[in-house]
Amino acid sequence: MKFVFSESQKSHDPRFFLSSGAQRPNPEVPRRADILRRAALDLGLEEVAPAEAGLAPVAAVHTPEYIHFLRHIHARWQRIEGASEEVIPNIHPDRRGGAYPASAVGQAGYHMADTSCPISAQTFDAALASAHTAFHAAGLVLGGERAAYALCRPPGHHAFADLAGGFCYFNNAGVAAQALRSRHDRVAILDVDLHHGNGTQGLFYRRRDVFTVSIHADPVRFYPFFWGHADERGEGEGLGCNLNLPLPRKTGDDGFMAALEQALARIDAFAPGALVIALGLDAFEGDPFGGLSVTTPGFARMAGGIAQLGLPAVIVQEGGYVCDELGANLASFLGAV
Ligand SMILES: [Zn+2]
Repeated sequence: MKFVFSESQKSHDPRFFLSSGAQRPNPEVPRRADILRRAALDLGLEEVAPAEAGLAPVAAVHTPEYIHFLRHIHARWQRIEGASEEVIPNIHPDRRGGAYPASAVGQAGYHMADTSCPISAQTFDAALASAHTAFHAAGLVLGGERAAYALCRPPGHHAFADLAGGFCYFNNAGVAAQALRSRHDRVAILDVDLHHGNGTQGLFYRRRDVFTVSIHADPVRFYPFFWGHADERGEGEGLGCNLNLPLPRKTGDDGFMAALEQALARIDAFAPGALVIALGLDAFEGDPFGGLSVTTPGFARMAGGIAQLGLPAVIVQEGGYVCDELGANLASFLGAV
């Protein structure tokens, strides 16, 4: 199997992070990419760099207004007297009307769901490289590869069409799914990250050509809180094309696999031509976020179950934070897919 990686993704090195109101080091660090890349190489995967693809892959799933914002907001922010080094929103408009603020501060509030997606001078280029990584992996699968692994960082599944959030800027899994649609009438996205893939759900919520499934810690007491509940099933044409499987905190391998079996049965019934796996490794029992209790061998069980679908698959890296077993968890999954 090939894996796609771009060094320029590492230039994004966010500092700001709030946890329960306290400022802490941001856990979405470049070292994550080093650990995951080492594990992929040790597993014998062949590394390839993504081709330059311009803005088209992200423009296929994000609004022009949002792309323009991400590209220019850091420079605009620096012109504000006394502004922070990274762009951090200080206003959070829950219910946005049609009006679009002219000011940098207003737009940061409009386009940033929370404070865990700070924007530095390097963020736009790194996030675009991450999207290109997913796009290139989709191209490999369209070209006949059975599966390809996109080592994406920053991650993407909390990013909506016009909204960053939760360490995410461009929705890499969405970019890959949209690319696969060029060849396949129906595509499914299976998100196994600890956190609900709210941005991915949002991108396709009113569409029936992309089936979105997420297995995650129950948002009733866990990020992203406002999405990820079992009664969110899609809207309009997309009704019935979104499936959320929230799990109680500390659910282990057996509970996770039971939910996965439900997910796989629904994906099979949707009859997609290809699959995107939004691979968070933070459901691990030793992950710093501590939400679920999947073990290292549990990731191999997960991959083995998914492989039974027999679908060409783009594996897109989402979360999974620095801990001793991070590389082993990736190897466990990729070795069994
Ligand atoms: Zn996560």
